[in-house]
Amino acid sequence: MDAHETMRFRCSVFEYGLDAMFLTHPDGRIIAANPAACALLGRTEEDICTIGRAECVDESTPEFAAWVQQRHALGQARGDLLFIHADGHRIPVDVSSQAFTDVDGVTKTIIIARDLSTQYALADASTSAQRQLEILINSTSDFIWSVDITVDGIAHELYNNALRDHFHDEFGVQMYPGITLHELFHDEQSERLWQDLYARSARDGRFTIEYPTRGGNRWLELTLTPVTREDRVVAVSAFGRDVTAQHEARERLAASERRFRTVVETMAEGLVFQSADGSIVSANRAAERIQGRGADDLLGRTSEDPAWGAIRADGSPFPAAEHPAMRTLQTGVPESDVTMGVRLPSGDVRWISINSAPVFESSDAIPSGVVTTFRDITAQRLAEEALQTAATAFAESHEAMLVADADGTILSVNRAFSEITGYSAEEAVGQHTRLLNSGRQDRAFYQEFWRALLEEGRWQGEIWNRRKSGEIYPEWLGITAIRSEGPTRYVATFLDLSLAKQSEAQIHSLANFDMLTGLPNRKSMLERLTNAVTATRQAHATGALAVIDVDDFKSVNDARGYDDGDALLSILASRLVSTAGERAVITRLSSDEFGVILSNLDPDRLVAAQHAESMTMQLLAALAEPVQFGDFTLHCTASAGIATFRNGGPEAATLLMHADVALSEAKRMGRSELRFFDASVQSALAERVALESLLRRTVPEGLRALFQPQVGARGELIGAEALVRWEHPERGLLLPDAFIPLAEDTGLIVPIGTWMLQRACAVLREWQDNPRTAGLSVSVNVSALEMQEARFVERVLEAVRDSGCDPTKLKLELTESALLSDLEGQAEKMAHLRAAGIQFSLDDFGTGFSSLIYLKRLPLDELKIDQSFVRDVEHNANSAAIVRTIIGLGHSLGLSVIAEGVETPEQRTMLDGLGCREFQGYLIGRPMAATAILDLARLASVR
Ligand code: C2E
Ligand code: CA
Ligand code: CA
Repeated sequence: MDAHETMRFRCSVFEYGLDAMFLTHPDGRIIAANPAACALLGRTEEDICTIGRAECVDESTPEFAAWVQQRHALGQARGDLLFIHADGHRIPVDVSSQAFTDVDGVTKTIIIARDLSTQYALADASTSAQRQLEILINSTSDFIWSVDITVDGIAHELYNNALRDHFHDEFGVQMYPGITLHELFHDEQSERLWQDLYARSARDGRFTIEYPTRGGNRWLELTLTPVTREDRVVAVSAFGRDVTAQHEARERLAASERRFRTVVETMAEGLVFQSADGSIVSANRAAERIQGRGADDLLGRTSEDPAWGAIRADGSPFPAAEHPAMRTLQTGVPESDVTMGVRLPSGDVRWISINSAPVFESSDAIPSGVVTTFRDITAQRLAEEALQTAATAFAESHEAMLVADADGTILSVNRAFSEITGYSAEEAVGQHTRLLNSGRQDRAFYQEFWRALLEEGRWQGEIWNRRKSGEIYPEWLGITAIRSEGPTRYVATFLDLSLAKQSEAQIHSLANFDMLTGLPNRKSMLERLTNAVTATRQAHATGALAVIDVDDFKSVNDARGYDDGDALLSILASRLVSTAGERAVITRLSSDEFGVILSNLDPDRLVAAQHAESMTMQLLAALAEPVQFGDFTLHCTASAGIATFRNGGPEAATLLMHADVALSEAKRMGRSELRFFDASVQSALAERVALESLLRRTVPEGLRALFQPQVGARGELIGAEALVRWEHPERGLLLPDAFIPLAEDTGLIVPIGTWMLQRACAVLREWQDNPRTAGLSVSVNVSALEMQEARFVERVLEAVRDSGCDPTKLKLELTESALLSDLEGQAEKMAHLRAAGIQFSLDDFGTGFSSLIYLKRLPLDELKIDQSFVRDVEHNANSAAIVRTIIGLGHSLGLSVIAEGVETPEQRTMLDGLGCREFQGYLIGRPMAATAILDLARLASVR
């Protein structure tokens, strides 16, 4: 091709080329544009050559700057620029420029631009979707990535900004496409974990788990999805959302729930949740324990279930609708501290204190359920009751009570205290107990008092105290030190003995003086006689006892009645007293028998006897005076027996017997006779000796034990008293009066008593096997001599042990005389036996001292009213008074009281009226064989 052809070809390329072409001058002007360029820009060539470059190309793009720079540096450049169409829209173009020196010698630049619009438009569809996706995945804080799984390993190909930033910010790792697991973690453990996760997804498909990030401070919800190509997993795409907050909230909730569960299960209070219909939905262990029911028994029950057996504090039924849970459900208002008794399946009542609170699910006004808690207050209630009882006992006790601290300051007192001392509680509390001191007790007393209190923790006895009024009075005081808790306290209880002393004195006078005549009675006479006999030991004087018996007094009674009989006796008594004056003591021995004690008689026995005789004659003469009853004149006579004493003997009882013997001699002589105890009496004594040896030989074979029944208020058999009999070879069955005194004098009472005890225990043992008699007690009489015997306690325990009887059914009857000699010693023995369960009864009560000291100090269970009082309780106001006093005394001391010698229904009714609840006597039954008691028991049970 020649130069011209070449030129033409080149021009035609310019003219017809598909690419837009421009020719520019070094000064930047466009000097030529081909038709493709005009079409591209929508302008004419002329137009293009007049407007500047700036109107044809978007000079603001970074590519343009780079392109210009490149063109200047190299003379040629290529880049993607944006042209500006005449209508203003931008046209992407691929622009190349090449500088050349034209024929005119000017360095011009040819610019060729290829329209990229079509190309762009083609790519646009996919590119914009991908871009949007890219924007999307980078706009989220969730982690999005995908790993390629190849034989060489696992590499992160794609990841969003969030993940990139996470690794960068948290671990300082710069991610790039293709980064391997190893490069990412530099940590074998994490690497392996992730390998396993990706492998799992590859194996099992898509899954979601919660996963802690490396470092463990964040939690991801991770979803891994395998990507397969030609049945092979080539990648795993992953999505991780930060669920740390939810995770922690859930953890917190679970932990608080766990804590709550533990609290609920370990709390001592019962807790149940009830749904809106009131049925129990859940219950904790304490609820099961307190209600005594298993969960299966509790769940589903409502508060209205009658099975609870709910009661109020006062024992009345608890209406179901008022159950706190039901009320709360109804009102939506909590209930608190409601006390309720519930019956356990075992039948016991348990006391609980209930609180209930409503549960609201939403903002509803009606609760969707109720939570009820309850506390077991049974022990507390029992303690409160006990405290209440104790408080009431303290307040209401008849005994005065005082509580003081260790310094003796009074802390509290009760009503009886105020009544006895005259000090009100306000006056006494805060004062020292010295307030009450009478000054009567000496230093030695207080030394012993404090010793007992400090060493034994208690003291009791009689002391004198002073009332507010200044009056000094005796009291029976018991003090106990309480050291168990807190500071030492002293509790003092005392009884005003002045009243008791009065009744004691009353009993004494009733017991020692005959009420009809006002004369000292038999018992008192024996005491006086004993004193008189003892007195002759020192004075070397002589004395005499005369027993005077009214002849045939019985016929007076029969003919004129008891009232006249009584009247006669008191007339005779006053005659005796006025006749004797100061010279003799007149006493009444039995209804129509008087005793006369003459002391300080002449030492010469004969002179003394004469003196006694003349005195007695005067007395008999006085009695023989007629007695006027209205218009009726009574002539009566009397006989007398006299016995003398000196040098301190014989003892009173013997002396009385001597006199009695002499009296019977006199009676045998006829009326109005007088006899001295003489030689003939000696033979009677000899007889006594013979009797003793016979008794000695026949004990115990000749002994028999009879049992006299005892009954309670409703006539029910409660026990029996064992009474001894002696089968005399010639005289038949003898009553104790005929041989017990002899046995006591000779010591035979010990084997007799032992035998009786064994018999009684054997009978008890037998009765115990029979349901009808199993509850009966047996009383055994114990004489003073027996009790003083050294082996007494052992003997009783042995008898009980050998027989195998129940010791609590054995009762020993003692008389005051048995205790008199050595009170402390006997009390100790009694305490010993009582510890074994054996009971004690004070026999013939009312005839002796009847002293409070005995009653308080001895471990007694029963007082036995002497039959003498029972015999005339109906007709004699004094006897009735004694009986009432004894019953009151006994009951106030917690002793049972039994009356013996009850012979008539009237006596029984009267005794019943006086408060007596136990009876013994011929009315109920005479002493009988043990087997007969069995029959009686059978009868009673039939009735
Ligand atoms: P005691 O202990 O006062 O016994 C009650 C006595 O009153 C018994 O007389 C009894 O038979 C009698 N008695 C019961 N009910 C009535 C009644 O309604 N009216 C009347 N008038 N008497 C009734 P007993 O069996 O003659 O015994 C007399 C005393 O002998 C007893 O008096 C007791 O002191 C003593 N004694 C009896 N057995 C023993 C014994 O085994 N050992 C000892 N040491 N003394 C005994
Ligand atoms: Ca008795
Ligand atoms: Ca008796």
